[in-house]
Amino acid sequence: MRIDTKNPVITARGVTKNYGALRAVDGLSFQVRAGTCFGLLGPNGAGKSTMMKMLYGKAERTAAPDEELLVFGYDPARDALAIKALSGMAQQEDSLDSELDVLTNMLLYARFYGIPKKEALRRTHDLLEFMELDGKQRARIRELSGGMKRRLVIARALLNEPKLLILDEPTNGLDPQVRHLIWDRLHSLRAGGTTVLISTHYMDEAYHLCDELVIMDQGRAVLQGNPRELVEKNIERYALQIFTRASLAPARRKNAQIRIEEAGGMLYIYADTLPPLEKLAAALTSRDYILRQTNLEDLFLRATGKGLNDEQ
Ligand code: ADP
Repeated sequence: MRIDTKNPVITARGVTKNYGALRAVDGLSFQVRAGTCFGLLGPNGAGKSTMMKMLYGKAERTAAPDEELLVFGYDPARDALAIKALSGMAQQEDSLDSELDVLTNMLLYARFYGIPKKEALRRTHDLLEFMELDGKQRARIRELSGGMKRRLVIARALLNEPKLLILDEPTNGLDPQVRHLIWDRLHSLRAGGTTVLISTHYMDEAYHLCDELVIMDQGRAVLQGNPRELVEKNIERYALQIFTRASLAPARRKNAQIRIEEAGGMLYIYADTLPPLEKLAAALTSRDYILRQTNLEDLFLRATGKGLNDEQ
């Protein structure tokens, strides 16, 4: 597929969505370049699904000055069908028909896109193999595991050979094996030229998959950019994460080399070099702490004062 590197696949400028008095998305601006994987990372309730729904016209935007949303140059409020023809969507709530088998679910969806039966059969065969679901054609949906259903929803979203694949929390609640399989498949799709947009509250998923991302909280962009660069530029290099409140006194002593944050019952101590953290760790029992490099979770904590997966 030819990749258009000049025109972004998605341009969002000042996009806003109110549900009554609640501002679910608050002036979000970002661009998604063709052939990249872009992420919306944030805790539950940050506005990720709402942002995605606006992209394919499932949720109406709230009017705002100078706001704009274009997907392949189309405004989803007017041309949702043109966007749907070029995109595949794997949504959180699974819309599979649980009484029907895998093959029938795929063929019904293909009919919606007007794909001729012979071609639909060919694509279904290839996609089920791609998502490691071959052999499941005749299984009813209710007989599938959670991980299989999720893979099927992705396979189904690929039936119309989309240029843009939109995935809402693709690996939420899945075991590590299935997560890695899905990550691997998303990597190969992107390598083949498909633009991928994912929402996730897993920082490791965002870090691993995304070329660029927006970190969201309460509808707003907290930070955006390349995940590695964001971590490099915006936070110390190392974190000492302490699980219990035992032996914290030394850490609390004034020390210009470290920075302390507290969230979700844990203490995080940050430094640009290891020695000050190693010194503090030496006074702790090994099961009470982890000494590690910093990551997107630390960035989120620094920006918002709370953890990505804390109860809101
Ligand atoms: P996320 O996908 O990041 O978990 P959502 O976009 O689902 O976040 O939700 C953002 C906020 O909007 C939440 O406070 C949620 O309760 C609210 N919300 C989402 N959908 C609706 C709706 N249809 N009506 C009213 N409030 C909604």
